[in-house]
Amino acid sequence: MFRRKIRVRFAPSPTGPLHIGGVRTAFYNYLFATKEKGDLILRIEDTDSQRFVPGAEEYIIESFDWLGISFDEGPHKGGNYGPYRQSERKSIYRQYVDRLISDGLAYIAFDTPAELEAKRNEHANFQYDASTRMSMRNTLTLPPTETAALIEAGKQYVVRIKIEPNRTITVNDLIRGKVSVNSSIIDDKVLFKSSDGLPTYHLANIVDDHLMEISQVIRGEEWLPSAPLHVILYQYFGWEDSMPQFAHLPLLLKPEGNGKLSKRDGDRLGFPVFPLQWTDPKTGETATGYREAGYLPDALLNFLALLGWNPGDDREVLSIEELIQLFSIEKCSKSGAKFDYKKGEWFNHQYIQLKSNAEIADLFLPILKEHGVDAPIDKVIKAVSLVKERVNFVKDLWEQSAFFFIPPASYDEKTVKKRWKEDSAEKLTELAGILQTLTGFSAPETEQAVMSWLTSKAYHTGDIMNVFRLALVGEAKGPHLFDITEIIGKEETIYRIEKTIKNLA
Ligand code: GLU
Repeated sequence: MFRRKIRVRFAPSPTGPLHIGGVRTAFYNYLFATKEKGDLILRIEDTDSQRFVPGAEEYIIESFDWLGISFDEGPHKGGNYGPYRQSERKSIYRQYVDRLISDGLAYIAFDTPAELEAKRNEHANFQYDASTRMSMRNTLTLPPTETAALIEAGKQYVVRIKIEPNRTITVNDLIRGKVSVNSSIIDDKVLFKSSDGLPTYHLANIVDDHLMEISQVIRGEEWLPSAPLHVILYQYFGWEDSMPQFAHLPLLLKPEGNGKLSKRDGDRLGFPVFPLQWTDPKTGETATGYREAGYLPDALLNFLALLGWNPGDDREVLSIEELIQLFSIEKCSKSGAKFDYKKGEWFNHQYIQLKSNAEIADLFLPILKEHGVDAPIDKVIKAVSLVKERVNFVKDLWEQSAFFFIPPASYDEKTVKKRWKEDSAEKLTELAGILQTLTGFSAPETEQAVMSWLTSKAYHTGDIMNVFRLALVGEAKGPHLFDITEIIGKEETIYRIEKTIKNLA
């Protein structure tokens, strides 16, 4: 049987930074396209000139670059179905608008915003549709000579779809199943505005999905209400046979589960809702992004993949390749997914453990630089290997490992109070003497030497080791002490002991 080529698209409107929900939508499209060896298209839906925000398209493309989600076609890629920016497809839409008008399936309306407002004030539930359109100023009610004159005079108008009332419109959604609505609830939506010569979302979206031969439309739940209108448009154009299958993804919900996730939830609880940092070009306000917060792209994608889909068992940490293999639209859930941002941190932690120490060390280098540390990479790798299990983010490695690179600037008061005894200085001096005699300084060698000194003197191990740690780290934390001495080396170890004696004695 003929099976059409799988072609899916992500179709953001450049009205600001990409929301994290949009990233999930794009990623599901990516997983599906890659699994089906199909094409993934980026289409910029910039027909709403009022809401256009400069820099938003660049932001979207940079976000996907960072995440490693690649497109086969798009404004940045080219392709055989371009242009991929709707504002560059003006002339294409005009023909389809004209076609609907001449087929009697759409009409021109001259009602001004003030006239519409007056109608709304008159009737509480005013809707421009079969029940009201004959009392409005449009080509269905005005004589042709008058409409011609109005257009001639440059009066602004819109083109509205003419919805037949009382029809059952059925949308077969791959996730939600069959959804039927009565066409009377749909208003005669505006398809085109003469003011800017641009179509609205409804028309441009359908025409482009058709012309770009889109096979599945995987989009966010918020677009579900417009699906019946889209089905009607496919019928009006006679394109039912090539209509894409729809899949409306569940909403991302607030972490508490009540209502839609918003930017305010992120501000309130301290997590980003955008992939990258974004500075509003008008207000200059900056919002943080997942990249800047220290998320690894794969960890973020793994986290998002499981918000609205699961592989059918309880596996959670899945590589991109595994996600591609396992993904299916049918396994997406109908109900909203709580945005458990703590789980996102957990994923980042898991991915840090999965990455090699060398990879994490590379990511840690710029942070070390910021702290004025220029350490040899071998040393950074060793330090990372000892503390990475303690962190969720690469940037937190500094707090956990600074003592590998710089001596403590101060000593934790509580620890000093508890551990620093009358004879501590004396003991530490003795310890420095022992260390001085060592020729090898590996962890086992140093440990052995220190331990046999302790036993021969019958010193209390805890007493000595605690102040030794205080001298090296400045507080009662950190990995195995002799791993630290090995990494910082003999000279630095002795220097820190002497410094501590001077400071605390
Ligand atoms: N431009 C719409 C948006 O911003 C596209 C919705 C769709 O995928 O059809 O989300």
